[in-house]
Amino acid sequence: MRKPLISGMVVLAILSGLGLFLIKGPSSPFFLPYLAALLFLLVSLLSLRFIFYDPLEPFLFLVCGILGLNLVVQITGGVSSPALFAYVIIVVAAVFRSWKETAGAVALILAIEAANLLLAGPAAAGRWLLYGGFAFSLVSTAGIAAPLVERKRRKVRRAEDEYENLMAAARAVDPLAGGLKLDGFTEQSRQASNVSAAVEREGAFHSLIDMIAGMAPAHTYALFLAEGIEGRFTLRAIRSASRHIPSVGTVDVTRGKGLIGICIDKNQPQYISELVIPAKNLGYYTENVAVRSLLAVPLVQGDVNAGILVVDSLEPAAFSPALQDALARFVPFFLQIIDKVRITRELDMRAKNFQALHEMSDVLSSSLELDKILKKLAGQVRSVVASDFCAFVLYDDKSDEAVLMALEGYGTRFENHRFPIEQSIVLSHMLKQWRAQAASGQYYFSDLGKRGREIDLFPIKELQQPLQSLYGRPLVARGKFIGAFFLGSFRSDAFSEYNREFLGTLMNQVSVVIDNSMLYEDIRNKSRQDGLTGLLNHRTFMEKLKEETVRLSRDQKPFSLLLVDIDHFKKVNDTYGHPAGDAVLVHVAGILKEAARGADFVARYGGEEFAVGMVGADTKGAQQMAERLRKTVEKTVVQVGRTAITVKLSIGVASCPDDAVAADGLLHLVGLADNALYHAKRTGRNRVCLFREAKEAEKHASVS
Ligand code: GH3
Ligand code: MG
Ligand code: MG
Repeated sequence: MRKPLISGMVVLAILSGLGLFLIKGPSSPFFLPYLAALLFLLVSLLSLRFIFYDPLEPFLFLVCGILGLNLVVQITGGVSSPALFAYVIIVVAAVFRSWKETAGAVALILAIEAANLLLAGPAAAGRWLLYGGFAFSLVSTAGIAAPLVERKRRKVRRAEDEYENLMAAARAVDPLAGGLKLDGFTEQSRQASNVSAAVEREGAFHSLIDMIAGMAPAHTYALFLAEGIEGRFTLRAIRSASRHIPSVGTVDVTRGKGLIGICIDKNQPQYISELVIPAKNLGYYTENVAVRSLLAVPLVQGDVNAGILVVDSLEPAAFSPALQDALARFVPFFLQIIDKVRITRELDMRAKNFQALHEMSDVLSSSLELDKILKKLAGQVRSVVASDFCAFVLYDDKSDEAVLMALEGYGTRFENHRFPIEQSIVLSHMLKQWRAQAASGQYYFSDLGKRGREIDLFPIKELQQPLQSLYGRPLVARGKFIGAFFLGSFRSDAFSEYNREFLGTLMNQVSVVIDNSMLYEDIRNKSRQDGLTGLLNHRTFMEKLKEETVRLSRDQKPFSLLLVDIDHFKKVNDTYGHPAGDAVLVHVAGILKEAARGADFVARYGGEEFAVGMVGADTKGAQQMAERLRKTVEKTVVQVGRTAITVKLSIGVASCPDDAVAADGLLHLVGLADNALYHAKRTGRNRVCLFREAKEAEKHASVS
């Protein structure tokens, strides 16, 4: 827009000088070009953009206006010029434009006036005297306007002084001023400081830019900061006289790409006094604004480029070396704020971690059962990071299977589902990578597109959802791959780097939690078992009986109890030694375990006594089972080294509801089964006795 304007001015100046046609009339060869130039002026004036283009453009408009008026006066035959406008032009030029432009305007006006005088024919000496007076007054006007310019320069100097004072003050102050201490920080104050720091940061950037604006008048000030993605710089603050600017945070520039990107790459302030590329290509204008000069100051700290400050002007060569230097001295200020932001983010991260861990420890203390913990954790993760599903998968290295422990967002139907790990491409790949130590095994797919359904996370059709973002991470504890954590979203780019960093830290803790609870489960199982045979121990058997009592009062099912004792076991010990006796115990336990079905439970009741709880079995069923056990043991030979040992069993059976009512409790059955066992021993051993038989025998005995 500026180019046609200037060329228009030049053409008009030449033609007004060549006003010869005034003397020679329309027959002059200059008539047509003159008309064309007039038309050009009119079109320029009528163009709205020409007038409203920029706050400083009215000056050019005025200059053109004065030249146009001059021509009109000439066309109508007069030779007087609109001298008053000439003064206005000069004052405006002196105050708002450079001294070069002011001198140019003075020279142009005087040239036109002189041409008028010359072309109007032989002028009287008086008129030339008048011309001299006019020239003198015009130059004087420029001279009077100059101090105004000087005042503007003084303002810049004052701002520079102010800046120096601020710098001195800043050097004396800790960047974490305001009582910020990293240790002994309460949760509330952490959060409060996060909020205030974010507000403070925006405010600080803007007041810095305001300060710069005070000393270096420019059209636009734009601040880009490195955030998240490597090599990408996001617009974080902008102040402009133009309306054609984007909102903060909506645009970024890439290192090495475009003019600003190249300036970032150079790591040194770059000054362009005559910009030739369209302003839109700069990345922070939405329209082409007539930017003429540009100063880009990268914010460099060591080797790291934290951002770039860009200042531009509609004037060419707008930034003097002194100004460039002053601007460069603002860099440490920006860096301090950026540093503070980084610390704030870390604090925020820690606060969030702290809170999540705090809640996790709550979960831990309330229950140490792994499935409960993971379900609660999955819920918590989803409350911190917006997502559509969250899963914990545990890996069973004995069977090479994966177990879906928690599945938030997809319903609970498939929880505890097991599948061979190679059926999940993602999981088996993760395990392979982890084993090869090639990578941490962490995954992040930000835009799966059509592959969302085909990613084959789990081999369950219902769980193959159109995921767009997927975060996956192995859970490792004590150097063992114990499972994986997955977070998915139907949105692409759902998990920011900040979120992923947070999840990473969180999952480190979760791994430890899982490991602890696995250990706990292990210990608990061990405490429930008999060390020699692996059967339930006496205490646990009694607990199970109590549990079953509660269940039976609802279900009304029968229940039977077998008490098993090895006959003449003392002899085994005495003959073959205690270790051989142990081997026999393990052998018998194996037969009992093998025979037990479904909800049956087997325990080592005492030294060489065992108990079998049979859920759903009545007297007859229990008797059959007891017989089967007795015969099996009788027939099998225990090989201990070179010696072959055979043992026999005596078994007592008591049932509910045949021998006792459920309301009395199943513990009551123990005494009855013991009676039956005693009866079996007394009546010859190697046999099964029912409580009923023992009772009848007792009756007979008491009668006789
Ligand atoms: P019966 O039951 O037929 O009346 O004769 P018994 O010889 O089995 O009698 P008793 O119940 O008195 O003997 C049990 C023996 O079992 C005593 C003890 O030495 C042995 N015993 C108990 N616990 C263990 C154990 O853990 N290992 C071994 N090897 N022997 C055990
Ligand atoms: Mg015994
Ligand atoms: Mg015995």
